[in-house]
Amino acid sequence: MSKKLSEYERKRNRKQTPEPFGGNRGKAKAPVFVVQRHDARRLHYDFRLERDGVLASWAVPKGVPLEPGQQHLAVHVEDHPLEYGSFEGEIPQGNYGAGTVEIWDRGTYELLEEKRDGGLTVRLHGERLEGTWALVPAHLSGDEKNWLILRKREEGAPAPGRRVYRPMLATLMGTGPSRMCAAAKSSSSRVEATT
Ligand code: MN
Repeated sequence: MSKKLSEYERKRNRKQTPEPFGGNRGKAKAPVFVVQRHDARRLHYDFRLERDGVLASWAVPKGVPLEPGQQHLAVHVEDHPLEYGSFEGEIPQGNYGAGTVEIWDRGTYELLEEKRDGGLTVRLHGERLEGTWALVPAHLSGDEKNWLILRKREEGAPAPGRRVYRPMLATLMGTGPSRMCAAAKSSSSRVEATT
């Protein structure tokens, strides 16, 4: 068992939750990503990227930004086992993250850039998400867990506004960078408790 998953395991009782606890699997061709809709105490989306045999994970309260230039708070949380990428189900009340988990999107990704500060640029190939996103360790409100996920403009893509993106939630529309810092300040501590 990977040491990377010790925090994940510490928070969960394998006798009481149907969530997977992981193991190992053979070499994958392309690394996978998954976005899970997690209707916990506070609804959020969990964005996960396969990295070094585990799923690096971020809780994204407002969902993955869909419009180029848009950015949302992404709270970096503990690594999850690769098997979590196919998990859907009900985490029973009284357990960490109690509530319903559904897969919102999944697929593979290409790592386009990895910065020295840990920032990542990825091209996602999902059923809903297709394009380039960056994860930036922005340390919002001085908390190193508070990253940003932002939708990048594609090179050679049509001008903004020409493509129609399907919203994740009606409430996602109209959120943007100017509201980001306020969101980070007000929601970061609560978000942590809902992953
Ligand atoms: Mn979660």
